[in-house]
Amino acid sequence: MSRAKIAAGNWKMNKTFEDALQLSREIANGQRAEEVITILGVPSIYLKMIVDQVLHVPGLEVAAQNCHAKPSGAYTGEISAPMLNSIGIKYVIIGHSERREYFAESNEELAEKVNIAFSNDLVPIFCCGESLAIRKSGNHLDYVANQLKESLYHLTGEQISNLIIAYEPIWAIGTGETASPEQAQEMHEYLRNAIAKQYNSKIANTIPILYGGSVNPANAEVIFSQKDVDGGLVGGASLKSPDFLKIINSFS
Ligand code: PEP
Repeated sequence: MSRAKIAAGNWKMNKTFEDALQLSREIANGQRAEEVITILGVPSIYLKMIVDQVLHVPGLEVAAQNCHAKPSGAYTGEISAPMLNSIGIKYVIIGHSERREYFAESNEELAEKVNIAFSNDLVPIFCCGESLAIRKSGNHLDYVANQLKESLYHLTGEQISNLIIAYEPIWAIGTGETASPEQAQEMHEYLRNAIAKQYNSKIANTIPILYGGSVNPANAEVIFSQKDVDGGLVGGASLKSPDFLKIINSFS
């Protein structure tokens, strides 16, 4: 079964206007493997500019880093899914561990965000992952599977087939410490089996599962070569075009 190969960058709260424009231009003009879908997760203030810039660039897409669970209303400073749709955005990162931790986003709230994304034609890039304490306790597989259960299993088979999952162990995000390829594969396979049990194996085999956590040009190839790893969600290394282009070209 061949699934989409995806290299997604998460710029987080980085880059000023000129730098953001330059980075997206360099990725757009760089050599990128044809079969890879590259997604730029850019700060919301630059979304419209960058989506216009890459509109006709094959294989290059733009993601918002978050959206609110409600379609509109008195939520000062927030960005809604209908707003994202109205400027031509197709992807939205939902449930990044930094949002879960600093903005207290629960599995239940993330289920609502996934719903509002789908009802506005956005593909959720749903993030999950365990802390170091949970990994050390040995309960990491069930903990992450439960994140999926509580936020995703109300979806129809058709909806969940159109979603991207990003497994991001919190202890590996921005720390320079990466899960070993075997640890990534173990979790991805576990999650895929759990989805197959809940839905069916055809659906489970359709869903791209990305690994995130200190992916860099030196380790991307071995991580992406794992059977159930369909690409990466990349933070720090997506901020420099030579590094991110190398990662985009790390699929065998
Ligand atoms: C991320 O922000 O999702 C991430 C994985 O960051 P980094 O690659 O810097 O660890």
